[in-house]
Amino acid sequence: MSLKRQAETEDSLVFASEEGEDLSTDAACWTVLVVDDEPDVYAATCLALRGVEVLGRPLRFLHAESGEEAFALLSHAPDVAVILLDVVMESESAGLDLVARIRGELGMHKPRIILRTGQPGYAPEMQAIRDYDINDYRIKSELTRTRLYTVLTAALRSYQTLEAVETNRADLEYLLNAQNELLAANTMPAFALGVLERLAGLFGMPVNAVFCSDARRFHDVDENRRRVVAALGRYVDWSWRRLDSLGDGPEVEAIELAFATRRTVFANCGIAAFLPSRTGSEAVAFVAGQADSDVHDPRVFDMFVQNTTVAADGVRLVERLRDAAYVDGLTRLPNRSALAETIDTVLRALPEAPQRLLLIDIDQFSEINETFGDRIGDALLRGVAQRLETQAGSIVRVARVANDTFAAFGPRDALVPGEWAKSLDEPFDVEGLEIGLSVSFGGVEIRGDCVSGGEAIKMGYSALKRAKQTGHRSVAFYSHEVATEIKERTRLLHGLRSAFDQQRLFLMYQPQVDARTGRTLGLEALMRWRSDDGRLVPPDRFIPIAEQSGLIKDLGAWAMRTAIHRAASLRAAGQSLRMAVNVSMSQLLVPEFEVMVAEALAEGGLPAELLEIEITESVAMQSPDIVLPKLAALKALGVCVAIDDFGTGYSSLSSLEKLSPDRLKIDRSFVMGLDAEQNTGGIAEMIIDLGRTLGLSVIAEGVETATQRQKLVDLGCHELQGYLFSPPLALESLPDWLERHGEGFPL
Ligand code: C2E
Ligand code: CA
Ligand code: CA
Repeated sequence: MSLKRQAETEDSLVFASEEGEDLSTDAACWTVLVVDDEPDVYAATCLALRGVEVLGRPLRFLHAESGEEAFALLSHAPDVAVILLDVVMESESAGLDLVARIRGELGMHKPRIILRTGQPGYAPEMQAIRDYDINDYRIKSELTRTRLYTVLTAALRSYQTLEAVETNRADLEYLLNAQNELLAANTMPAFALGVLERLAGLFGMPVNAVFCSDARRFHDVDENRRRVVAALGRYVDWSWRRLDSLGDGPEVEAIELAFATRRTVFANCGIAAFLPSRTGSEAVAFVAGQADSDVHDPRVFDMFVQNTTVAADGVRLVERLRDAAYVDGLTRLPNRSALAETIDTVLRALPEAPQRLLLIDIDQFSEINETFGDRIGDALLRGVAQRLETQAGSIVRVARVANDTFAAFGPRDALVPGEWAKSLDEPFDVEGLEIGLSVSFGGVEIRGDCVSGGEAIKMGYSALKRAKQTGHRSVAFYSHEVATEIKERTRLLHGLRSAFDQQRLFLMYQPQVDARTGRTLGLEALMRWRSDDGRLVPPDRFIPIAEQSGLIKDLGAWAMRTAIHRAASLRAAGQSLRMAVNVSMSQLLVPEFEVMVAEALAEGGLPAELLEIEITESVAMQSPDIVLPKLAALKALGVCVAIDDFGTGYSSLSSLEKLSPDRLKIDRSFVMGLDAEQNTGGIAEMIIDLGRTLGLSVIAEGVETATQRQKLVDLGCHELQGYLFSPPLALESLPDWLERHGEGFPL
């Protein structure tokens, strides 16, 4: 191989190169290929040009002894600038054949070619010189040292021009591609990374670079600061840091100078390219290292900056749109969609790590909002967001997923509900108001194999719903049971709603009798629902669902009207019986509940004394401020009030006096205790005593055995209700039953 031979010739002008080493890169000198089958010509050429510099660069010589050898060499050495080519070698046309292959087969258009021949007779046609882009044609004897130098200089100058044109063409092409790629980025950080990579590529520098711009992260509520939006290579640690926190190294100095002068700064440590913006958010891209500025036309760089600016404005616009889709405007926290994506990303990156999602819901926020107004409510939400952010630190992501529902997502150990609740314990100071609040949690344990972000949030909602069913300050974690329960409830609610619309609900009536004589004194109306498949759904199952959904208001009003209507017709038929109707808390809370009752009584033509309202002890005691006035209004109408399930709640004597009900209803569980020789019977006794003290009537429910009846009679209980006398009766069987048993059950 010729290269080896060059090394062997020990010619000082030859930059010896080991076989296999890359021939293509030595920008510091001009490579000249001498193609000649006479080694002496090569040696003479080298000698003649020894130590010579052309256009500021030394020469480097390569030698080939045949067209074949030259062709092989050129296909590995693309930076050959000038070829000194012998026309006649192995054949008379070997030289011109080689030229044709260089230009055609190898597609090398830059190398300048100087043909040399021993005799003038071998001169090629003008046509060939033009077609093959041959620079010069000389007879070897003409090429004296000076002559050779002149010819070579001219060839090299034209080579240099061609090279510059080609570089700029490549730069332009690169630039156009870069712009297209940059426009495809849809976030500022992605765009910034693209700019850095392309800028480094343009100058052929390794990618140690930073991109600074005005930017705010999710949790910066109102700050817009210069930050490192993207960083590469040795600067990666600078990512997202504020420019003013990076010290005063030469890079920072260059970047700051670029911002201050609004111009690109070529510093020793690198280039800080100033990127103006039409939308006001300018940037500086800094790339470390020395650019080979001779090679590149400065206009190309200007064009890069301009294109980048246009692209940046586009990206900012896209980002702002994205921002609107992913950031909650009120708190600047990520919103539900952003949270879902974050969870997805984390799950992809760390599928094995135990993660947790907590949904954090403010208890009774709507009441707070109604009381203080939206402005205070909003400020409160921002306050909550801030506290949650502080609690989150750097490893937990906080989001606002709905009006008063926040979320925290991160490693399980960092998401203990108790600790998060504590962070909100201190009252908030909002415009001088001190507002305290409590929260409930719905938690989900997340492992990569089972969920997506969207699903995880839904599961969180299920758990939260469960927690809210329990009351304030509660915590519930998602489980399959919770999911099934919630699904079942939803299914039931739909069924109940349509059953109500289609009038497939009905009432049954259970007699309430005088404890001693067994004579029927009243009836309790009990709601029934026969579902599509003919099964009776127990009210213990559907009433709570109706209560949570608010459907109870309609259901209750219907039951009230129907029961009153029934009592009125019984009375018309000569049976003056009291009608007891169960009323739940949410019914009682309907603003004009007492008006509805009064209207129903008037419509049915039933004396108010024949209507009894049963409210459970827990309802009666829960919010006395709401319940007391309601009951007072009902009592003013003449309606009776019974406290249902008595003994299971926590009535104090004083509150019971304030409620001043007409009747206490001993819960079935205490009646059951009367059968066995157990002490639970003692509670029934206490209630009966209490009734006597307060002058209230007492009724026992769930009486199933004669023993129970006997004991209750002995204790002085006034009335009884239960299977011993009758189960709840359908409307049709009621007249017949009353006919046979209405007058009494002998002891
Ligand atoms: P409650 O008010 O305590 O009603 C008494 C329940 O005990 C009724 O169950 C009744 O059928 C049952 N019962 C009566 N005697 C006996 C007995 O001797 N042994 C046994 N084991 N049970 C007996 P039901 O009808 O299933 O009603 C359950 C609950 O559903 C009621 O408890 C009440 O809280 C609620 N509810 C029923 N109808 C209505 C209504 O129209 N409105 C409201 N708000 N709640 C209702
Ligand atoms: Ca009842
Ligand atoms: Ca009861």
